[in-house]
Amino acid sequence: MTTSPPLELQAGVSAGLLHTSSEPIIRDRSSGSGSAGSGVCRVRGRPGPGRQSPGLQGPGSAGSGVCGVRARPVQQDLEHSSAPPPSPPQSSLIHLLLAVGGQLELRSGLAYPIPGVPWVERMAGAFAYESSKVDWCEDNYRHSEHVVEYFNTVSNLIFFLVSPIMLYLLHPYARERNLAVHLVWVLMIFVGLFSGYFHMTLSFMGQMLDELSILWVQAVGYALWFPQRLFPAFVKDRRTFSRMVLAVAVLTTVSSFVKPTANAYVLNIFGVQLLYMLRMEMKRCTDQKATRLAKRLVCLWLLAIACWISDRFGCSFWQKLDFCYLHGFWHILIVMATAYGTTLIAYLDATYEIPSSLPELRYWPCDRWEVGFPHIVLRGDTKSRKGC
Ligand SMILES: [Zn+2]
Repeated sequence: MTTSPPLELQAGVSAGLLHTSSEPIIRDRSSGSGSAGSGVCRVRGRPGPGRQSPGLQGPGSAGSGVCGVRARPVQQDLEHSSAPPPSPPQSSLIHLLLAVGGQLELRSGLAYPIPGVPWVERMAGAFAYESSKVDWCEDNYRHSEHVVEYFNTVSNLIFFLVSPIMLYLLHPYARERNLAVHLVWVLMIFVGLFSGYFHMTLSFMGQMLDELSILWVQAVGYALWFPQRLFPAFVKDRRTFSRMVLAVAVLTTVSSFVKPTANAYVLNIFGVQLLYMLRMEMKRCTDQKATRLAKRLVCLWLLAIACWISDRFGCSFWQKLDFCYLHGFWHILIVMATAYGTTLIAYLDATYEIPSSLPELRYWPCDRWEVGFPHIVLRGDTKSRKGC
């Protein structure tokens, strides 16, 4: 994978080109480089391993328009004239707000430095397009000049489709057990939101928000569903355990800024551990419907992980096939795996913690063929009991 330069070096902005016009960022997608002083940028795709970040590349960037900053022709002319550059924004707040939209990319010490508030520049850099060191296989800006990875961005719509469905389907269980259960799928909406923002901009801030929201989904899952019988000896109840998980999540959140490129791997390791726990729980379960659900969950998860790994490490192969969309499939598969996983865990939890509710697994919309979204029906008035 290619990497971007440090934040401070992201996308230099030549004085006089700083504004937020909606004009295209990239004007020449075919040449691969721009002409000096023309304001043309190299496509931020993946022509080779040495892809550079906008503003630091090739002949087109020297003192010219910069990718990520909309350069009007009239402003390009300013470069070649003796006229002074336009005045910088007067308010640091405006400066920051401009940066938030990814419309403004700052080079530390250049552009319009705000005396005494260097953090503003660093902050602006964190929101800048391609300020993350993570870059996925999909060709950048292939389908839109405003969206870095189009399919990887659009595929996040699955979060907004599945989350409300799961919130609705899990509501009877949550009402009986703990309404905090809804936090999982509420947070999943944020995962989709932040993931979409990340792939749209490949900004460092997008990356961190994306990864941290996943971390917090996992933390809430642990706090809610970690089996009580497996609590450490010094933990008396779930409230204490939840506080411990909260402390670890806060600590992990802070430490995630130390080596951000390792975060995705750490999150997947947490995912493996969750699956291991589930496997241990399933060994006690004799309900065939739950067993089938667990098998489907494992298949979905393995497929999702295969897509993630293949996109990460087999990119050159997929590029030859002109099929660089596996990370988008990862989004879709992992959301479905999460739907299956949360239902299965909730089912086991309900079986052990509120057995009188007589939980039963169902599928929506088609329970007969077990197709669709799994969920739990509580049949408190039924005499039968499952074997989990
Ligand atoms: Zn992603």
